Parts: sequence; structure tokens; C-alpha cells
Amino acid sequence: MLEIDRTSLPSLDVEPKAAPVDGAKSESGVSVKIIPFIFMHVACVAVFFTGVSWSAVLLCAALYALRMFALTAGYHRYFSHRTYKTSRWFQFALGLLGTMAVQKGPLWWAAHHRRHHKYTDQEGDVHSPVQDGFWWSHVGWIIDIKYDETDWDAIKDFARYPEMRWLNKYHLVPPVALAVALFFIGGWQFLVWGFFVSTVILYHCTFSINSLAHMWGTRRYQSGDESRNNLLLALITGGEGWHNNHHYYMSTVKQGFFWWEVDFSYYALRMLSWFGIVWDLRMPPKHLVEAKSR
Ligand SMILES: [Zn+2]
Ligand SMILES: [Zn+2]
Repeated sequence: MLEIDRTSLPSLDVEPKAAPVDGAKSESGVSVKIIPFIFMHVACVAVFFTGVSWSAVLLCAALYALRMFALTAGYHRYFSHRTYKTSRWFQFALGLLGTMAVQKGPLWWAAHHRRHHKYTDQEGDVHSPVQDGFWWSHVGWIIDIKYDETDWDAIKDFARYPEMRWLNKYHLVPPVALAVALFFIGGWQFLVWGFFVSTVILYHCTFSINSLAHMWGTRRYQSGDESRNNLLLALITGGEGWHNNHHYYMSTVKQGFFWWEVDFSYYALRMLSWFGIVWDLRMPPKHLVEAKSR
């Protein structure tokens, strides 16, 4: 019988306990964050005023792909799970690029994600569609005051870097700088397509892993939760759709365990390793893959 891997949560040395989640506020309610969150969506309507061009659509797609990489390879596979190693400057670069996705700072993101793995689909999971329904897991938890703060106990390993704490605190500086730069380069059309439209699409594709990837797809491994493998979700998120694989063995950099399980973030990280930018990529153990390849 294959054992579930719960060993790769580096700073979590406490046993699971009942809700409320460690580090979360006890009270619940809608945060003021809902105002900019709604504004981001409404601003997309401006495409009807700015019009569209090939360069605007390409910019939208490029900024989507680049920031999705920062989220999956950086926020998720590096800061949350430490599935490979890198230099301090590239660690900062990943964090900086990740903040431009406007999903708060890397320490806030990774700390909450580690809690998700610790309590997956049980009481105390910050975003479980099984426990609290689709909408809560998709957007509800993000706009709730309960999870506003960074859970420092869950991210001690990266909190020791002052530049990461700075980035976590001033996480809105890089995306605002990006938006301003886009406006000066290409006017309203670049701002609307490159920032607002691209970011909102990025939101919902990222959030689909918290919601749909625990509801829709197949289950290869008995991971003790409702995580699923889903090709469509993997294609739009650079490989994060192999979520059942990931919940079963979270410490590997490669979430698509088999050649047909497309995993763009892994391919990109593998290429970066050829240049010595990242190294020590942790791969799924052979016995785990072979046992299920028949
Ligand atoms: Zn994870
Ligand atoms: Zn999950």
C-alpha cells in the first residue's frame, strides 16, 4: 500500500486540530477587499471602449502565461512546497512576478496553501468545496476578513528573508507599477487588456484549482480527500490540474506523473535547470508512478 506523502510541509510541526484554522481570525465577514476585487472585473467592460488589436490580445496572453508560471512554479511549487532549490535572487524574482498576479504576497499565499494541504477537505480547510461549497472555495474565502492576515507560523522558513517580508507587505506595489507601465507603453488598450482582462482570467483559472479540481475529474490515488486530475484544468494552469497526483505526493516538482499529463510549469523549470537557475528538482518516486502505470 502506498503511503500518502505529508512530509513536505517544512514548517508544520504541529498535529492537525479542529477549526478555527491556526492563524485565522475567529470572526467572519466580507472584507473591504471586495471593492477592488469587483472593480477589477467591472474594469474589463472597458474593452468595449478601448477596442481590440492583435498586440493587445498577445500582451494579455503573454502576461497571463508569465504570471501563471510565477504562481504555479513560484508561489505553489517553490514557496508552498519547496520542490526544488534556487538562488536568493531568483527566489525574489519569482515572488516579485507572483505579486503581479494580484493574489497578495508570496508568504500569505503559501502559508494558506500549506493549511489547505494539512486539512484538505476536512474541517479547517481554508477553501474546500466539499466542506463549504463551490463559491466559497472559488472566491468566498479570498474576500473574507477571516483570512486577511499572513499565517506566520506556517511560513517560518521563508519569513526569515527580509526582502520576502517586504514583498509580502508591499505586495500591491509591483502590480500597480505594472499597470502604470502598461498605460504609458500602450495607453488605455494595453492597460485594460494587459492588466485587467489578463488578471481576471488569471484569477478564475487559478481559483479553479481550489474549487473545480476538488470536484471535477478522475482520481488515480486514494489521497484521503476529493482532489481530482483534470486535463482541461492542467492545460489552463500550466500543469496544476493534476491535482490528485499533487495531493497524493505534494513534494514533487512534477505534477503530471506520466508523459501524457501535460505540465508546462515543470517543462519550464526543467529548462531553467539546464542553465543552473534552479536545481535539485524533486521527482515523483519510481515505485509510486510504476504502481499506477498499468
Ligand atoms: Zn499544493
Ligand atoms: Zn487542493
